[in-house]
Amino acid sequence: MYCSQCGKQLDPSSRFCPACGATISAAPPPPGYYPPTGQLTRPRNNRMIAGVCAGFALHYGWNLNLVRVITALVALFTGVGAIAYLVAWVVIPEEPYVLPVKSL
Ligand SMILES: [Zn+2]
Repeated sequence: MYCSQCGKQLDPSSRFCPACGATISAAPPPPGYYPPTGQLTRPRNNRMIAGVCAGFALHYGWNLNLVRVITALVALFTGVGAIAYLVAWVVIPEEPYVLPVKSL
């Protein structure tokens, strides 16, 4: 591969051009994939109500369906789950929009 800025041949593993310092644009991530930010967020897609279950499942690597089933059961049988869900809805920030990679 070659630098789109200066045309210098590049090491495929490098992320910046050593000659001109241009960022080497990687292929855009597949739809539905979000890079881990370390922050618990509510994803904008794949959500059922507010994305709270999806957020927890993604953040902790849990099975999304399992999280939803447990949340629903806890909400049904204790009532605490519904309140916890509402609290999580308010507390957990929404995931930022994924901006398209700038191509020069
Ligand atoms: Zn370059």
